[in-house]
Amino acid sequence: MNVYDSERIGELLEASDMVAAKTSEDADVVILNTCHIREKAAEKVYSDIGRLKASKRKSGVKPVIVVAGCVAQAEGAEIARRAPTVDVVVGPQAYHRLPALLAAAQGGKAAVDTDMPLDPKFDALPARRRAVPPSAFLTVQEGCDKFCTFCVVPYTRGAEVSRPVADLIAEARSLVASGAREIVLLGQNVNAFHGTGGTGNAITLAGLIRELAALPGLARLRYMTSHPRDMDDALIAAHAEVPELMPYLHLPVQSGSTRILKAMNRAHTVDSYLATLDRLRAVRPDIALSGDFIVGFPGETDQDFADTVALVKRVGYAQAYSFKYSPRAGTPAATMENQVPEAVMEARLAELQEAISAGALAFNRASVGKQVDVLLERKGRRPGQLIGKSPWLQSVHVAAGDAVIGDIVRVELRDAQPNSLEGVVLAHARAA
Ligand code: SAH
Ligand code: SF4
Repeated sequence: MNVYDSERIGELLEASDMVAAKTSEDADVVILNTCHIREKAAEKVYSDIGRLKASKRKSGVKPVIVVAGCVAQAEGAEIARRAPTVDVVVGPQAYHRLPALLAAAQGGKAAVDTDMPLDPKFDALPARRRAVPPSAFLTVQEGCDKFCTFCVVPYTRGAEVSRPVADLIAEARSLVASGAREIVLLGQNVNAFHGTGGTGNAITLAGLIRELAALPGLARLRYMTSHPRDMDDALIAAHAEVPELMPYLHLPVQSGSTRILKAMNRAHTVDSYLATLDRLRAVRPDIALSGDFIVGFPGETDQDFADTVALVKRVGYAQAYSFKYSPRAGTPAATMENQVPEAVMEARLAELQEAISAGALAFNRASVGKQVDVLLERKGRRPGQLIGKSPWLQSVHVAAGDAVIGDIVRVELRDAQPNSLEGVVLAHARAA
């Protein structure tokens, strides 16, 4: 979502007659759009600020430094104290006010804006999207009301809010007109989306997907991130019935131990999660699954962790993300007893990642010999090589011939690694 927000900030500032600088050394204004989800991400901000301060500047003038995003939201005053060189601090729900904040800062007034204003941020952003990649992001829902005990999102992004369907269709049209062939619908809890249609009617994510799938020129749809509790029947049915909806689902479970899930306040059990996967696989047997895992949540025993590894092996994820538990100030888990020692977390993470990687390799190997459609998204390292995505979100490397970025090519998969595949182009359909 920060990638999406950064893109929108760029568009907003271009509309106020600014231009993108080539490097941070050239820039009069530098914006750090930050993540607060784990401590490592948050600490990076302070080292980046230090690096900016020390860098040799072409103009000799210190740039206006802006800290945006969730670190700004959570640590507004702390940033001003730790890094007085920062001029503007702006939270993720107030960045549409940046032009005014920058004008104030250029007049010598430092500004902190961590409001969560009721005026919709998106209405204040330029309607026309500029050049976008073949696979473009579209934020449809923000914030979270679920309050998992480890997570800062409900505090930094605020309450769950869905954007109006008409606005989303307009933005999707603009994305397609600017080069998108695939749209990835984004939300902290995207499958909790509850928008309103033209007549004030309620529209869930499944309904939104069906409306967007009808847009001419849009070949593919994906969505992330979902919560297991919000996988409703209509969304599962969409996986069976909407050909544009790709057979891939990122559905974080966090732990394979129901006892730990309870302590996390996840509102699902291991069994209910597995039952959801069964419902999905019943209608879409080829669906590829991905997930997030936290190791070392307070109180996690060797047995709890073994249950997580067993779950990974049982589900057979196409890929998955795993993290060491990071205590976040203000969340209930940060003050729980039985915090797990760093060395134990380290060892558990390595073991889990080995299991995930073995699963990913097995998944990719099982695709070798198949013919799949690949959306070409970027250049590869070798001359003439392009990299694209299969419907199952596998990275596929091909010698592109006369195919170009944005084309969807028919590829025979020839070789597999854990994170990518090699293939040969059989035919291609030029982007419209
Ligand atoms: N809404 C999504 C996840 C959003 S946060 C969900 O509920 O599944 C993205 C991921 O970051 C989470 O799935 C979790 O695995 C990880 N994460 C969040 N807080 C964390 C913390 N305090 N320590 C380690 N990982 C964390
Ligand atoms: Fe965080 Fe996701 Fe839990 Fe919300 S549902 S609190 S975003 S982990």
